[in-house]
Amino acid sequence: GLPQAATTHTRGTAEYRALDAAHHLHPFSDMGTLNQIGSRVIVKANGVYLWDSDGNRIIDGMAGLWCVNVGYGRQELADAAYRQMRELSYYNTFFKTTHPPVIELSALLADLAPEPFNHFFYCNSGSEGNDTVLRIVHRYWATQGRPDKKYVISRRNAYHGSTIAGATLGGMDYMHEQMPAKVDHIVHIGQPYFYGEAPADMTPEAFGLARARELEAKILELGAENVAAFIGEPFQGAGGVIFPPSSYWPEIERICRKYDVLLVADEVIGGFGRTGEWFAHRYFGVSPDLMTLAKGLTSGYVPMGAVAIHDRIARALIDNGEFNHGLTYSGHPVAAAVAIANLKLLRDEGIVERVRHEAGPYFQRCLREAFDGHPIVGEVVGAGLVAGLQLAEDPRARKRFADGAEVGLLCRDFCFNGNLIMRATGDRMVLSPPLVVTHDEIDEIVAKAKTAIDATAKQLGLP
Ligand code: PMP
Repeated sequence: GLPQAATTHTRGTAEYRALDAAHHLHPFSDMGTLNQIGSRVIVKANGVYLWDSDGNRIIDGMAGLWCVNVGYGRQELADAAYRQMRELSYYNTFFKTTHPPVIELSALLADLAPEPFNHFFYCNSGSEGNDTVLRIVHRYWATQGRPDKKYVISRRNAYHGSTIAGATLGGMDYMHEQMPAKVDHIVHIGQPYFYGEAPADMTPEAFGLARARELEAKILELGAENVAAFIGEPFQGAGGVIFPPSSYWPEIERICRKYDVLLVADEVIGGFGRTGEWFAHRYFGVSPDLMTLAKGLTSGYVPMGAVAIHDRIARALIDNGEFNHGLTYSGHPVAAAVAIANLKLLRDEGIVERVRHEAGPYFQRCLREAFDGHPIVGEVVGAGLVAGLQLAEDPRARKRFADGAEVGLLCRDFCFNGNLIMRATGDRMVLSPPLVVTHDEIDEIVAKAKTAIDATAKQLGLP
């Protein structure tokens, strides 16, 4: 017969690991190595804490994968899913039908998003969101009688997802290398990564302008009449929490407007309060034409993504016949019901406000105090409840480790063993805790991060 469904945790760690190794391929993992060590089995979570199958309590400095904005275990979201599954578990929105959850969610998002965003197209993930962005961009220019506007310009070390289009838009060479082919008409320019890439004698402002002007150079090279859009994460997340110099985004926006190029903000990580603004592009003071949303939309309780569409573009899509794009689960009623409950918590409990005025400033101050002058920390950047810590061999000289990715993994392992989830992306350590994290929990995250980074320095024989 069938094995008993494990709705709660019913097996021991060793048995789980053996079954995991036997049957489960993990994303972005070296399975040969992982299967020998064995994965940590996470069995439950509440607030900002996870528990593993050995009973260890772990503080989650990453909100899962940057997504559990309201924290784990909120009854309101579970109730919303339960009620919706009993009422209408599924129906599609393809053929002249709709349903209350997707209607209510769209109206609520129109309320929460900046003024020109009043229309939303749904999908299941950030990757699908960016696939949808590409489809909308091409459709838009076709409706404007400018089908030659096809090129989309992105950045090296960007992350836009793992589907073929998402990964092509992303600027990760190690992903491109494993793809059969890339989507046509997608090109990349340099990233605004001051610490890692600016010449020694350049100011952050000058560097921000220089990197933004690579966009202008690329548009001129391709011909503005051939360029459809520029896409960027307001701050790069998976690329290492890279905050561009303040000169960068205004110049990008100026260039997009000058050459009639759509500006797409990938808000998959930045959206729904991460920086203390509802959307991260507001933090940088730019106005995009499209926004990719996912993660914090449902706080990761169920999968859902969306594209927020500026009125001008929505109008063109609405007035020009059929748009041949959609997913079985576009606007899934259960996901929509959970998203509504989640957004109401973020709004009505003042969670985003608290990130902006209280938790965010406290988190940023504690991190800077803990790592100011640290022998292997070159910079601490971030806003609200997201931060990146640059590991460096000679922090003041901006000299990075020759084997930076190894140092990052070493540090991550020290965190893991200390029951802190902090991620390494190359030689940058990144933190992005649930937005409900308390001051005491922030103290715990910072203290554990300090212990791990001190241990890393010691292991490397640095003072
Ligand atoms: N865009 C950004 C900025 C992301 O950070 C991610 C995921 N980390 C994605 C897109 C892809 O989202 P998903 O994994 O839900 O497909």
